[in-house]
Amino acid sequence: MSGASAVPAELKVTLLQHTPLPERAVASAGRLCYAPVSAAELKEVMSEDDVRRLVRGLVRSGHMSALEHAGFTFAIDGISRACSHQLVRHRVASYSQQSQRYVRFGSEGGFVVPPHIAASPEEYAVFQEAMENARRSYERLVELGLAEGRGNESVFEDARFVLPNAAETKVVVTMNARELRHFFALRCCRRAQWEISRLAWTMRHLVCSVAPLLFEGSGPGCMIGGCPEGKMSCGRSYTDEEIDAMELDRFVGDVG
Ligand SMILES: Cc1cc2nc3c(=O)[nH]c(=O)nc-3n(C[C@H](O)[C@H](O)[C@H](O)COP(=O)(O)OP(=O)(O)OC[C@H]3O[C@@H](n4cnc5c(N)ncnc54)[C@H](O)[C@@H]3O)c2cc1C
Repeated sequence: MSGASAVPAELKVTLLQHTPLPERAVASAGRLCYAPVSAAELKEVMSEDDVRRLVRGLVRSGHMSALEHAGFTFAIDGISRACSHQLVRHRVASYSQQSQRYVRFGSEGGFVVPPHIAASPEEYAVFQEAMENARRSYERLVELGLAEGRGNESVFEDARFVLPNAAETKVVVTMNARELRHFFALRCCRRAQWEISRLAWTMRHLVCSVAPLLFEGSGPGCMIGGCPEGKMSCGRSYTDEEIDAMELDRFVGDVG
């Protein structure tokens, strides 16, 4: 393969960190609202049953602000710029994205291939050619810019204009449990685009493993009591078998 070959990028999502004992943090905040306790007393040991009862009560009653006390930080590798653009539309979150001004889109920078295109040899050939052309043009613009004596930042920020939506990017995102539940409701839905849907399901998979109570009953409308899509509804509720078949561990990164 030439240096201009299109390298397929793979999604990897890593849960970098989260609020310690996130379910307890939320339960403590909820308890303050409903019991005559001081901040010091909040530190009293609550039983597992108390935590479960409090968290379920908060979610059931819609007292969702208490869920904002638990934050989760993910490192996301191997998503396309098309996907990151959709992700950052979720405003109740914090983001850090690898810069195309400071970081040269180099040999490690890959391109995300949509599965339907990957499955069709003819479409894949067209896609590969477009990506190789984009990478070649980018490299040539960088060479020319550097030869003019311009600084890296100035050269990269211009050369990146020829990179496509498929270009891989890396993002660190922090969301609280309330926003994550909202994000899962929108983006785990079948109507969401395949890539952000895969990302959302993987993020849900990760947080369910560390805070199952906080994310109990989270997911697309069809899984939580009714599809909100009306005439646009796909009419096909997700099943547990279908979720298992996603094999989401494939997309989980190494904590290292
Ligand atoms: C299937 C699908 C198709 C889409 N298609 C398009 C499209 O064609 N074009 C397009 O532009 N976007 C599109 N979007 C993006 C969509 O419009 C939202 O920008 C995105 O989903 C973020 O949702 P949000 O605003 O609820 O989330 P967040 O920004 O995280 O906000 C969370 C919640 O906080 C509240 N909130 C946040 N900011 C404000 C505010 N300024 N004022 C009042 N309340 C606020 C709202 O209750 C909101 O639901 C699409 C999304 C989906 C899921």
